[in-house]
Amino acid sequence: MQFDYHNPTQLVFGAGSLARLGELARRYGTRALLVTGGGSVKRSGTFERAFQGLVDAGLSVFECEGIEPNPRISSVRRGAAMAREHGCDLIVALGGGSVMDAAKAIAAAVPYDGDPWDMIVHGQPEPHVPTEALPLITVPTLAATGSEMNCAAVISNAETQEKSFVQAPCLYPRVALLDPELTLSVPRDQTAYGVCDLITHVTESYFNGIGDTPIQDRFAEGVILTAMEYGPKAIADGADLNARAQVQWAATLALNGWVNSGTGVRGYPVHMIEHTVSAYHDITHAAGLAVINPVWMRFAAQTNTAKFVQFAERIFGLQASGPYDMACALAGIDRFEAFLKSIGCPTRFSELGIDGSLIETYAKETLRIIHDDQGLLPGRPAMREADIVDILRAAL
Ligand code: NAP
Ligand code: FE
Repeated sequence: MQFDYHNPTQLVFGAGSLARLGELARRYGTRALLVTGGGSVKRSGTFERAFQGLVDAGLSVFECEGIEPNPRISSVRRGAAMAREHGCDLIVALGGGSVMDAAKAIAAAVPYDGDPWDMIVHGQPEPHVPTEALPLITVPTLAATGSEMNCAAVISNAETQEKSFVQAPCLYPRVALLDPELTLSVPRDQTAYGVCDLITHVTESYFNGIGDTPIQDRFAEGVILTAMEYGPKAIADGADLNARAQVQWAATLALNGWVNSGTGVRGYPVHMIEHTVSAYHDITHAAGLAVINPVWMRFAAQTNTAKFVQFAERIFGLQASGPYDMACALAGIDRFEAFLKSIGCPTRFSELGIDGSLIETYAKETLRIIHDDQGLLPGRPAMREADIVDILRAAL
Protein backbone atom coordinates (compact mmCIF):
# COMPACT_ATOMS: atom_id res chain seq x y z
CA MET A 1 0.00 0.00 0.00
CA GLN A 2 1.37 3.40 -0.98
CA PHE A 3 -0.36 6.73 -0.98
CA ASP A 4 -0.09 10.47 -0.60
CA TYR A 5 -3.08 12.13 1.04
CA HIS A 6 -3.48 15.89 1.08
CA ASN A 7 -6.86 17.53 1.30
CA PRO A 8 -6.39 21.25 2.07
CA THR A 9 -10.11 22.11 2.41
CA GLN A 10 -11.19 23.42 5.80
CA LEU A 11 -14.34 21.57 6.79
CA VAL A 12 -16.83 23.45 8.98
CA PHE A 13 -19.75 21.23 9.94
CA GLY A 14 -22.89 21.72 11.99
CA ALA A 15 -26.44 22.97 12.12
CA GLY A 16 -26.47 26.76 12.06
CA SER A 17 -23.00 27.13 10.59
CA LEU A 18 -24.28 29.16 7.64
CA ALA A 19 -24.05 32.09 10.07
CA ARG A 20 -20.26 31.86 9.75
CA LEU A 21 -20.17 32.36 5.99
CA GLY A 22 -19.30 36.08 6.10
CA GLU A 23 -16.51 35.66 8.62
CA LEU A 24 -14.96 32.80 6.61
CA ALA A 25 -15.38 34.52 3.25
CA ARG A 26 -13.70 37.72 4.47
CA ARG A 27 -10.45 35.78 4.83
CA TYR A 28 -10.31 35.04 1.12
CA GLY A 29 -11.78 37.95 -0.78
CA THR A 30 -13.75 41.18 -0.93
CA ARG A 31 -15.81 40.75 -4.10
CA ALA A 32 -17.70 37.47 -4.25
CA LEU A 33 -19.45 35.78 -7.15
CA LEU A 34 -22.31 33.90 -5.48
CA VAL A 35 -23.20 30.94 -7.72
CA THR A 36 -26.69 29.43 -7.42
CA GLY A 37 -29.02 27.01 -9.23
CA GLY A 38 -32.59 27.16 -10.43
CA GLY A 39 -34.17 28.83 -7.41
CA SER A 40 -34.38 26.33 -4.53
CA VAL A 41 -32.13 28.52 -2.37
CA LYS A 42 -34.43 31.48 -2.94
CA ARG A 43 -37.53 29.51 -1.97
CA SER A 44 -35.91 28.16 1.21
CA GLY A 45 -34.60 31.55 2.36
CA THR A 46 -31.02 30.27 2.28
CA PHE A 47 -30.00 32.71 -0.44
CA GLU A 48 -31.12 35.74 1.55
CA ARG A 49 -29.18 34.59 4.63
CA ALA A 50 -26.02 33.81 2.67
CA PHE A 51 -26.18 37.07 0.72
CA GLN A 52 -26.76 39.14 3.85
CA GLY A 53 -23.99 37.32 5.73
CA LEU A 54 -21.51 38.21 3.01
CA VAL A 55 -22.66 41.83 2.79
CA ASP A 56 -22.56 42.23 6.59
CA ALA A 57 -18.96 41.01 6.51
CA GLY A 58 -18.12 43.84 4.11
CA LEU A 59 -18.06 41.95 0.82
CA SER A 60 -19.55 43.10 -2.47
CA VAL A 61 -21.70 40.28 -3.85
CA PHE A 62 -22.68 39.49 -7.45
CA GLU A 63 -25.04 36.64 -8.15
CA CYS A 64 -24.59 34.13 -10.96
CA GLU A 65 -27.90 32.28 -10.91
CA GLY A 66 -29.48 29.62 -13.06
CA ILE A 67 -26.88 26.84 -12.99
CA GLU A 68 -28.76 23.83 -14.33
CA PRO A 69 -28.59 20.20 -13.06
CA ASN A 70 -25.82 18.54 -15.12
CA PRO A 71 -24.19 21.96 -15.40
CA ARG A 72 -23.23 23.12 -18.85
CA ILE A 73 -20.04 24.59 -20.15
CA SER A 74 -22.09 27.53 -21.46
CA SER A 75 -22.97 28.38 -17.81
CA VAL A 76 -19.29 28.15 -16.88
CA ARG A 77 -18.41 30.60 -19.65
CA ARG A 78 -21.21 32.95 -18.53
CA GLY A 79 -20.10 32.77 -14.88
CA ALA A 80 -16.45 33.40 -15.73
CA ALA A 81 -17.40 36.43 -17.83
CA MET A 82 -19.45 37.80 -14.92
CA ALA A 83 -16.62 37.26 -12.45
CA ARG A 84 -14.19 39.09 -14.72
CA GLU A 85 -16.63 41.92 -15.42
CA HIS A 86 -17.16 42.55 -11.70
CA GLY A 87 -13.56 41.98 -10.67
CA CYS A 88 -14.49 39.13 -8.34
CA ASP A 89 -11.70 37.67 -6.21
CA LEU A 90 -13.75 34.91 -4.55
CA ILE A 91 -16.35 32.35 -5.68
CA VAL A 92 -19.05 31.12 -3.29
CA ALA A 93 -21.10 28.10 -4.39
CA LEU A 94 -24.54 27.82 -2.77
CA GLY A 95 -26.40 24.76 -4.03
CA GLY A 96 -26.06 21.10 -4.99
CA GLY A 97 -23.25 19.33 -6.79
CA SER A 98 -24.18 21.01 -10.05
CA VAL A 99 -23.72 24.48 -8.60
CA MET A 100 -20.50 23.49 -6.82
CA ASP A 101 -19.04 21.88 -9.95
CA ALA A 102 -19.91 24.88 -12.11
CA ALA A 103 -18.40 27.17 -9.45
CA LYS A 104 -15.14 25.19 -9.52
CA ALA A 105 -14.92 25.39 -13.27
CA ILE A 106 -15.69 29.13 -13.14
CA ALA A 107 -12.97 29.61 -10.50
CA ALA A 108 -10.42 27.99 -12.82
CA ALA A 109 -11.78 29.64 -15.97
CA VAL A 110 -11.33 33.20 -14.71
CA PRO A 111 -7.49 33.21 -14.81
CA TYR A 112 -7.38 31.02 -17.97
CA ASP A 113 -7.11 32.68 -21.38
CA GLY A 114 -8.47 29.75 -23.39
CA ASP A 115 -11.92 28.17 -23.52
CA PRO A 116 -12.84 26.38 -20.25
CA TRP A 117 -13.97 23.30 -22.23
CA ASP A 118 -10.21 22.66 -22.76
CA MET A 119 -10.06 21.67 -19.06
CA ILE A 120 -12.67 18.94 -19.35
CA VAL A 121 -11.23 15.54 -20.28
CA HIS A 122 -13.13 14.63 -23.45
CA GLY A 123 -10.76 12.63 -25.58
CA GLN A 124 -8.51 15.50 -26.66
CA PRO A 125 -4.77 14.62 -26.78
CA GLU A 126 -3.78 16.95 -23.94
CA PRO A 127 -6.51 18.37 -21.74
CA HIS A 128 -5.57 21.65 -20.08
CA VAL A 129 -4.98 20.91 -16.40
CA PRO A 130 -5.66 24.12 -14.50
CA THR A 131 -2.95 25.19 -12.05
CA GLU A 132 -4.64 28.28 -10.64
CA ALA A 133 -8.16 29.20 -9.66
CA LEU A 134 -9.91 31.87 -7.64
CA PRO A 135 -10.48 30.88 -4.01
CA LEU A 136 -13.73 28.97 -3.61
CA ILE A 137 -16.07 28.38 -0.68
CA THR A 138 -18.68 25.65 -1.05
CA VAL A 139 -21.96 25.70 0.83
CA PRO A 140 -23.82 22.53 -0.19
CA THR A 141 -27.60 22.45 0.08
CA LEU A 142 -27.87 18.81 -1.01
CA ALA A 143 -25.97 15.79 0.36
CA ALA A 144 -24.76 13.72 -2.56
CA THR A 145 -21.68 14.40 -4.61
CA GLY A 146 -18.94 15.21 -2.10
CA SER A 147 -17.94 17.99 -4.51
CA GLU A 148 -17.84 20.35 -1.51
CA MET A 149 -14.52 18.87 -0.36
CA ASN A 150 -12.85 17.41 -3.44
CA CYS A 151 -11.01 18.78 -6.45
CA ALA A 152 -13.21 17.41 -9.24
CA ALA A 153 -15.98 18.96 -11.31
CA VAL A 154 -18.28 17.33 -13.84
CA ILE A 155 -19.45 19.52 -16.73
CA SER A 156 -21.68 18.81 -19.74
CA ASN A 157 -21.50 20.16 -23.25
CA ALA A 158 -24.94 20.24 -24.84
CA GLU A 159 -23.58 21.04 -28.31
CA THR A 160 -21.24 18.04 -28.50
CA GLN A 161 -23.32 15.70 -26.26
CA GLU A 162 -20.43 15.10 -23.88
CA LYS A 163 -20.28 15.00 -20.11
CA SER A 164 -16.95 14.60 -18.37
CA PHE A 165 -14.71 15.85 -15.60
CA VAL A 166 -11.79 18.03 -14.64
CA GLN A 167 -9.67 17.17 -11.64
CA ALA A 168 -6.84 19.37 -10.35
CA PRO A 169 -5.48 20.30 -6.90
CA CYS A 170 -6.20 24.02 -7.45
CA LEU A 171 -9.92 23.15 -7.45
CA TYR A 172 -10.03 22.16 -3.78
CA PRO A 173 -12.32 24.66 -2.07
CA ARG A 174 -10.68 26.77 0.65
CA VAL A 175 -13.64 26.06 2.91
CA ALA A 176 -16.52 23.60 2.81
CA LEU A 177 -19.28 25.01 5.00
CA LEU A 178 -21.70 22.20 5.80
CA ASP A 179 -24.91 23.18 7.51
CA PRO A 180 -27.31 20.21 7.46
CA GLU A 181 -30.25 22.56 8.10
CA LEU A 182 -29.83 23.71 4.49
CA THR A 183 -30.65 20.19 3.31
CA LEU A 184 -33.99 19.94 5.16
CA SER A 185 -35.87 21.20 2.09
CA VAL A 186 -34.44 18.58 -0.30
CA PRO A 187 -37.37 16.58 -1.73
CA ARG A 188 -37.62 12.82 -1.25
CA ASP A 189 -36.40 11.80 -4.68
CA GLN A 190 -33.31 14.01 -4.57
CA THR A 191 -32.57 12.77 -1.05
CA ALA A 192 -32.66 9.18 -2.30
CA TYR A 193 -30.50 10.02 -5.30
CA GLY A 194 -27.98 11.63 -2.96
CA VAL A 195 -27.82 8.43 -0.90
CA CYS A 196 -27.31 6.40 -4.06
CA ASP A 197 -24.60 8.74 -5.37
CA LEU A 198 -22.61 8.69 -2.15
CA ILE A 199 -22.83 4.90 -1.82
CA THR A 200 -21.72 4.52 -5.44
CA HIS A 201 -18.67 6.72 -4.78
CA VAL A 202 -17.71 4.30 -2.04
CA THR A 203 -18.47 1.10 -3.95
CA GLU A 204 -16.39 2.34 -6.89
CA SER A 205 -13.24 2.60 -4.76
CA TYR A 206 -14.13 -0.49 -2.71
CA PHE A 207 -14.50 -2.76 -5.75
CA ASN A 208 -12.03 -1.15 -8.14
CA GLY A 209 -9.20 -1.00 -5.62
CA ILE A 210 -6.38 -3.51 -5.51
CA GLY A 211 -4.46 -5.17 -2.73
CA ASP A 212 -5.15 -5.69 0.91
CA THR A 213 -6.77 -2.60 2.44
CA PRO A 214 -8.45 -3.67 5.68
CA ILE A 215 -8.75 -0.18 7.16
CA GLN A 216 -10.07 1.36 3.96
CA ASP A 217 -12.57 -1.48 3.63
CA ARG A 218 -13.89 -0.80 7.12
CA PHE A 219 -14.12 2.94 6.42
CA ALA A 220 -16.01 2.22 3.22
CA GLU A 221 -18.37 -0.24 4.91
CA GLY A 222 -18.95 2.29 7.72
CA VAL A 223 -19.98 4.96 5.24
CA ILE A 224 -22.25 2.56 3.33
CA LEU A 225 -23.92 1.21 6.48
CA THR A 226 -24.43 4.71 7.86
CA ALA A 227 -25.99 5.86 4.59
CA MET A 228 -28.24 2.78 4.51
CA GLU A 229 -29.36 3.41 8.09
CA TYR A 230 -29.89 7.18 8.03
CA GLY A 231 -30.75 7.64 4.35
CA PRO A 232 -34.18 5.98 4.67
CA LYS A 233 -34.83 8.04 7.82
CA ALA A 234 -34.09 11.29 5.95
CA ILE A 235 -36.32 10.11 3.09
CA ALA A 236 -39.19 9.15 5.43
CA ASP A 237 -38.97 12.37 7.42
CA GLY A 238 -37.21 15.22 5.64
CA ALA A 239 -37.26 17.28 8.85
CA ASP A 240 -35.12 14.73 10.75
CA LEU A 241 -32.06 16.93 11.26
CA ASN A 242 -29.90 14.18 12.73
CA ALA A 243 -30.58 11.91 9.78
CA ARG A 244 -29.83 14.78 7.39
CA ALA A 245 -26.56 15.48 9.23
CA GLN A 246 -25.41 11.84 9.15
CA VAL A 247 -26.17 11.56 5.43
CA GLN A 248 -24.37 14.81 4.70
CA TRP A 249 -21.25 13.76 6.58
CA ALA A 250 -21.33 10.39 4.81
CA ALA A 251 -21.59 12.11 1.42
CA THR A 252 -18.61 14.32 2.13
CA LEU A 253 -16.47 11.46 3.45
CA ALA A 254 -17.42 9.24 0.51
CA LEU A 255 -15.46 11.34 -1.97
CA ASN A 256 -13.00 13.61 -0.15
CA GLY A 257 -10.17 11.13 -0.68
CA TRP A 258 -10.24 9.61 2.79
CA VAL A 259 -12.07 6.40 1.92
CA ASN A 260 -10.18 5.67 -1.30
CA SER A 261 -6.61 6.63 -0.30
CA GLY A 262 -4.40 3.58 -0.43
CA THR A 263 -6.91 1.42 -2.27
CA GLY A 264 -5.05 1.89 -5.56
CA VAL A 265 -8.46 2.46 -7.13
CA ARG A 266 -8.15 1.70 -10.83
CA GLY A 267 -11.01 3.84 -12.09
CA TYR A 268 -14.65 4.83 -11.62
CA PRO A 269 -16.24 2.82 -14.44
CA VAL A 270 -19.84 3.14 -13.27
CA HIS A 271 -19.48 6.92 -13.18
CA MET A 272 -17.76 7.04 -16.55
CA ILE A 273 -20.53 5.03 -18.22
CA GLU A 274 -23.22 7.08 -16.49
CA HIS A 275 -21.68 10.32 -17.71
CA THR A 276 -22.02 9.21 -21.32
CA VAL A 277 -25.63 8.08 -20.93
CA SER A 278 -26.38 11.33 -19.11
CA ALA A 279 -24.78 13.36 -21.92
CA TYR A 280 -27.35 11.88 -24.32
CA HIS A 281 -30.42 11.94 -22.08
CA ASP A 282 -29.77 14.60 -19.40
CA ILE A 283 -30.88 12.14 -16.70
CA THR A 284 -30.34 12.71 -12.98
CA HIS A 285 -26.81 11.50 -12.21
CA ALA A 286 -27.67 9.05 -9.44
CA ALA A 287 -30.71 7.68 -11.27
CA GLY A 288 -28.25 6.53 -13.93
CA LEU A 289 -25.89 5.16 -11.29
CA ALA A 290 -28.68 3.19 -9.61
CA VAL A 291 -29.36 1.44 -12.91
CA ILE A 292 -25.74 0.79 -13.90
CA ASN A 293 -24.07 -0.04 -10.58
CA PRO A 294 -25.82 -3.36 -9.78
CA VAL A 295 -25.36 -4.70 -13.32
CA TRP A 296 -21.72 -3.63 -13.29
CA MET A 297 -21.34 -5.39 -9.92
CA ARG A 298 -22.66 -8.68 -11.36
CA PHE A 299 -20.05 -8.39 -14.11
CA ALA A 300 -17.15 -7.47 -11.79
CA ALA A 301 -18.05 -10.18 -9.27
CA GLN A 302 -17.01 -12.79 -11.83
CA THR A 303 -13.35 -11.76 -11.41
CA ASN A 304 -13.28 -10.10 -8.00
CA THR A 305 -15.53 -12.60 -6.21
CA ALA A 306 -13.96 -12.48 -2.75
CA LYS A 307 -14.54 -8.74 -2.41
CA PHE A 308 -18.20 -9.13 -3.33
CA VAL A 309 -18.52 -11.95 -0.79
CA GLN A 310 -17.05 -9.66 1.84
CA PHE A 311 -19.58 -6.98 0.82
CA ALA A 312 -22.46 -9.46 1.11
CA GLU A 313 -21.33 -10.64 4.53
CA ARG A 314 -20.43 -7.32 6.08
CA ILE A 315 -23.14 -5.10 4.61
CA PHE A 316 -26.05 -7.54 4.51
CA GLY A 317 -25.01 -10.11 7.11
CA LEU A 318 -25.13 -12.99 4.61
CA GLN A 319 -23.25 -16.20 5.38
CA ALA A 320 -20.82 -17.46 2.72
CA SER A 321 -19.56 -21.01 2.45
CA GLY A 322 -16.11 -19.63 1.60
CA PRO A 323 -14.37 -16.57 0.14
CA TYR A 324 -15.30 -17.51 -3.44
CA ASP A 325 -18.96 -18.34 -2.84
CA MET A 326 -20.43 -16.80 -6.00
CA ALA A 327 -24.03 -17.41 -4.94
CA CYS A 328 -23.41 -15.36 -1.82
CA ALA A 329 -21.66 -12.61 -3.82
CA LEU A 330 -24.65 -12.37 -6.17
CA ALA A 331 -27.15 -12.48 -3.31
CA GLY A 332 -25.37 -9.44 -1.80
CA ILE A 333 -25.73 -7.57 -5.07
CA ASP A 334 -29.44 -8.50 -5.25
CA ARG A 335 -29.90 -7.13 -1.73
CA PHE A 336 -28.11 -3.94 -2.72
CA GLU A 337 -30.33 -3.51 -5.77
CA ALA A 338 -33.40 -4.12 -3.60
CA PHE A 339 -32.20 -1.39 -1.22
CA LEU A 340 -31.94 1.07 -4.10
CA LYS A 341 -35.46 0.16 -5.21
CA SER A 342 -36.77 0.48 -1.65
CA ILE A 343 -35.64 4.11 -1.45
CA GLY A 344 -37.27 4.92 -4.79
CA CYS A 345 -34.37 4.70 -7.24
CA PRO A 346 -34.91 3.25 -10.71
CA THR A 347 -32.96 0.06 -11.44
CA ARG A 348 -33.71 -0.31 -15.17
CA PHE A 349 -33.14 2.09 -18.06
CA SER A 350 -36.73 1.56 -19.19
CA GLU A 351 -37.83 3.40 -16.04
CA LEU A 352 -35.89 6.41 -17.35
CA GLY A 353 -37.38 6.13 -20.82
CA ILE A 354 -34.10 4.92 -22.31
CA ASP A 355 -34.17 2.08 -24.85
CA GLY A 356 -31.35 0.01 -26.33
CA SER A 357 -30.99 1.84 -29.64
CA LEU A 358 -27.83 3.78 -28.69
CA ILE A 359 -26.07 1.23 -26.52
CA GLU A 360 -23.11 0.77 -28.89
CA THR A 361 -22.73 4.54 -29.09
CA TYR A 362 -22.61 4.90 -25.29
CA ALA A 363 -19.94 2.21 -25.08
CA LYS A 364 -17.81 3.77 -27.84
CA GLU A 365 -18.19 7.26 -26.44
CA THR A 366 -17.26 6.17 -22.91
CA LEU A 367 -14.08 4.58 -24.25
CA ARG A 368 -13.27 7.50 -26.52
CA ILE A 369 -13.38 9.84 -23.53
CA ILE A 370 -11.41 7.65 -21.14
CA HIS A 371 -9.27 4.58 -21.74
CA ASP A 372 -6.01 3.05 -20.60
CA ASP A 373 -2.96 2.19 -22.75
CA GLN A 374 -4.73 -0.87 -24.08
CA GLY A 375 -7.83 1.07 -25.02
CA LEU A 376 -9.84 -0.36 -22.09
CA LEU A 377 -12.08 1.43 -19.60
CA PRO A 378 -10.07 1.58 -16.34
CA GLY A 379 -11.53 -0.43 -13.48
CA ARG A 380 -11.31 -3.85 -11.93
CA PRO A 381 -11.54 -5.55 -14.31
CA ALA A 382 -10.72 -3.12 -17.13
CA MET A 383 -13.53 -3.27 -19.69
CA ARG A 384 -13.72 -3.75 -23.44
CA GLU A 385 -16.40 -2.16 -25.57
CA ALA A 386 -18.25 -5.49 -25.67
CA ASP A 387 -18.27 -5.65 -21.84
CA ILE A 388 -19.81 -2.20 -21.60
CA VAL A 389 -22.43 -3.16 -24.19
CA ASP A 390 -23.29 -6.33 -22.22
CA ILE A 391 -23.68 -4.38 -19.00
CA LEU A 392 -25.87 -1.74 -20.59
CA ARG A 393 -28.01 -4.41 -22.22
CA ALA A 394 -28.52 -6.12 -18.87
CA ALA A 395 -29.71 -2.79 -17.49
CA LEU A 396 -32.49 -2.21 -20.05
P1 NAP B 1 -27.99 18.99 -8.35
O1 NAP B 1 -28.01 18.74 -9.83
O2 NAP B 1 -27.02 19.98 -7.84
O3 NAP B 1 -29.43 19.41 -7.84
C1 NAP B 1 -30.54 18.60 -8.15
C2 NAP B 1 -31.83 19.34 -7.82
O4 NAP B 1 -31.95 19.50 -6.41
C3 NAP B 1 -31.90 20.71 -8.43
O5 NAP B 1 -33.14 20.83 -9.08
C4 NAP B 1 -31.80 21.65 -7.26
O6 NAP B 1 -32.57 22.81 -7.42
C5 NAP B 1 -32.38 20.82 -6.13
N1 NAP B 1 -31.91 21.22 -4.80
C6 NAP B 1 -30.64 21.42 -4.38
N2 NAP B 1 -30.63 21.75 -3.06
C7 NAP B 1 -31.92 21.79 -2.67
C8 NAP B 1 -32.57 22.10 -1.43
N3 NAP B 1 -31.86 22.37 -0.32
N4 NAP B 1 -33.91 22.05 -1.40
C9 NAP B 1 -34.65 21.73 -2.50
N5 NAP B 1 -34.10 21.43 -3.68
C10 NAP B 1 -32.74 21.47 -3.77
O7 NAP B 1 -27.77 17.56 -7.63
P2 NAP B 1 -26.47 16.84 -7.10
O8 NAP B 1 -26.82 15.42 -7.08
O9 NAP B 1 -25.97 17.46 -5.87
O10 NAP B 1 -25.39 17.10 -8.26
C11 NAP B 1 -25.39 16.34 -9.44
C12 NAP B 1 -24.24 16.76 -10.34
O11 NAP B 1 -22.97 16.56 -9.67
C13 NAP B 1 -24.18 15.93 -11.61
O12 NAP B 1 -23.80 16.74 -12.70
C14 NAP B 1 -23.09 14.91 -11.30
O13 NAP B 1 -22.49 14.38 -12.45
C15 NAP B 1 -22.13 15.73 -10.48
N6 NAP B 1 -21.22 14.97 -9.61
C16 NAP B 1 -20.07 15.57 -9.22
C17 NAP B 1 -19.16 14.93 -8.39
C18 NAP B 1 -17.90 15.61 -7.96
O14 NAP B 1 -17.09 15.02 -7.27
N7 NAP B 1 -17.67 16.83 -8.33
C19 NAP B 1 -19.44 13.64 -7.93
C20 NAP B 1 -20.64 13.03 -8.33
C21 NAP B 1 -21.52 13.72 -9.15
P3 NAP B 1 -31.97 24.28 -7.77
O15 NAP B 1 -31.22 24.14 -9.04
O16 NAP B 1 -33.17 25.11 -7.86
O17 NAP B 1 -31.06 24.67 -6.63
FE1 FE C 1 -21.34 10.70 -8.42
